[in-house]
Amino acid sequence: MTTAIEVQGLTKNYGDVRAVAGLDLSVRQGEVFAILGPNGAGKSTTVEILEGYRSRDGGEVRVLGHDPGHPTRAWRSRIGIVLQTAEDAAELTVRETLRHFASYYPAPRDPDEVIDRVGLTEKADVRIRKLSGGQRRRVDVALGVVGNPELIFLDEPTTGFDPEARRQFWELIEALKDDGATIVLTTHYLEEAEALADRVAVIAKGRIVAEGEPATLGGRATAKARVTWADGSVETDTPTKTVLELSHRYDGEIPGLAVRRPTLEDVYLSLIEAPRD
Ligand code: ADP
Repeated sequence: MTTAIEVQGLTKNYGDVRAVAGLDLSVRQGEVFAILGPNGAGKSTTVEILEGYRSRDGGEVRVLGHDPGHPTRAWRSRIGIVLQTAEDAAELTVRETLRHFASYYPAPRDPDEVIDRVGLTEKADVRIRKLSGGQRRRVDVALGVVGNPELIFLDEPTTGFDPEARRQFWELIEALKDDGATIVLTTHYLEEAEALADRVAVIAKGRIVAEGEPATLGGRATAKARVTWADGSVETDTPTKTVLELSHRYDGEIPGLAVRRPTLEDVYLSLIEAPRD
């Protein structure tokens, strides 16, 4: 099997609210897949359906070859969900917590190896309540992966992180990917999707409005470039030619030169603002 998740025509209503409106999605085994979209777009509803924690109204869904509408214990044990740290675990140490959770799974990873993987070896015997926010988030991830899941769901994993903690967290995600896991992540940070994801899907109003590699999403790679310099600015398909001409004009260095293509954020904002019915 090379597809971890396959979704066709997924729908979900809450009363009159159409939360998911015919959504198609395919996540390959071993990839990092990011789901982007404004608040209320239907991301959480979709992810909860994939996790087997919410029923759907319509559509075909397969997660690791199984219908999440009928979750089994064996299937659940193959999936890791990274939640916020349970407050009642705060008095336990990192190692105690990991050992406890590992015991729930048929084939867990070694808790100490997982603690090392998330960079908490020095904190293994510290109570969870004494950890910083970023360290707690690492515990969350450790708990999500201690069952040795094939598929990991991460919901806004770095919200509230400082830039350094975020970079460290990205390295952790890369390491989990190198271990062979498929990772589905929702995030509000476009640079996070760009740094981590093999592919991204943008959801708006319950539908996928764009899907692809971050570098080419929404025609990014072939979009016009904007060349700006101290005295002007121009949009062009041939930025190299423009720069050469400017260089001649200035007889060498061009003051204040910058060449810019649309960022992922530019593309994202235009996608979610585009009028739809
Ligand atoms: P996102 O995760 O992208 O912010 P959600 O899936 O949480 O989007 O929500 C999609 C839509 O469904 C929103 O309009 C939201 O208000 C509505 N919604 C979500 N959960 C519920 C619920 N349990 N009951 C009623 N409406 C809900």
